[in-house]
Amino acid sequence: MKIKNVAVIGTGMLGTQIAIQAACHHYNVTTFDIDSASFGRVLELLKIRMRNSSRKPTLPWPQMKRGAKMVQPCATLKEAVARADLVIEAVPENLVLKRKVFKQLDILTPEKAILATNSSSIPVSRLETATHRPGRCLNIHFYGLDQGRNIVDVMGGIRTSPHILKTGRDWVQSIGCIPLTVKKEILGFCFNRVWRAIKREVLYMWAGGYVDFKDIDRGWMNWAGMAMGPFGLMDNIGLDVVYDIEMVYYNESKARRDRPPQALKAMIDRGNLGLKTGKGFYTYPNPEFRRPDFLMRGR
Ligand code: NAD
Repeated sequence: MKIKNVAVIGTGMLGTQIAIQAACHHYNVTTFDIDSASFGRVLELLKIRMRNSSRKPTLPWPQMKRGAKMVQPCATLKEAVARADLVIEAVPENLVLKRKVFKQLDILTPEKAILATNSSSIPVSRLETATHRPGRCLNIHFYGLDQGRNIVDVMGGIRTSPHILKTGRDWVQSIGCIPLTVKKEILGFCFNRVWRAIKREVLYMWAGGYVDFKDIDRGWMNWAGMAMGPFGLMDNIGLDVVYDIEMVYYNESKARRDRPPQALKAMIDRGNLGLKTGKGFYTYPNPEFRRPDFLMRGR
């Protein structure tokens, strides 16, 4: 199956990047978001994120800006997906919402279109039952392309056809990304499950008052050679997004240890969502971990 037209639904932090990456690799890209200002707002945030990162982005800023102009925003979902060969939904991490979107997509997209979810944790088999085309549904999970993370988890559901899985993997490669194939469906996919184990542990240590979160970041930055630690990374992602993802794991296991800490929820309730609101664990646009003496300032 040849993919030419790609539709991205939800142009928040990730959808915007996916749309631009695809447009820069010669796909016709249409988008729809219930908040039409989101794409432009995220583009501005990406500029700050890229400045704060020591990693080379997948696309340099001038190319990203050009790519953004090639993306075609649509006023309705129907218009955005009418000619799509591949749809990637990147709406918030909420099973009920994602199932609703998948149901709408099933009605509005051409019969042959592939429906993919950028969910960070939900296996597609929990969404495919909202459609009449389970064989054409899959997980295609991106990371921060602006941070040079061009790995992509690709995972089929129980009923995804092998041919569709291969088409998904080939498409990921065609836009300059590295597919990480999951062989058997698992909550959290491939690399994202590794990252999730780190998040759970550091949130537990911080919320329990065992260590200052900055010391965890110092340790990580020194050990892994990265420009920010797990708390800086979570700020970048958005603390609301992190919370929703952790809740998916908690709802699955019901284990107390998997429940995201109340202290994280309290930050979200105060509107401290990280980079996107100017305050999370750090304050933006000039977070403390960017200071040259940050690593040496531990007590
Ligand atoms: P976000 O909150 O930045 O963006 C979500 C966007 O979806 C918003 O612009 C919102 O207006 C829009 N939206 C909400 N309901 C909609 C609907 N019914 N139709 C169309 N648009 C709708 O979230 P995000 O960080 O981009 O995350 C989106 C998805 O990608 C989530 O499933 C998340 O788990 C996943 N993801 C996020 C990251 C990350 O680093 N933030 C990384 C990988 C995957």
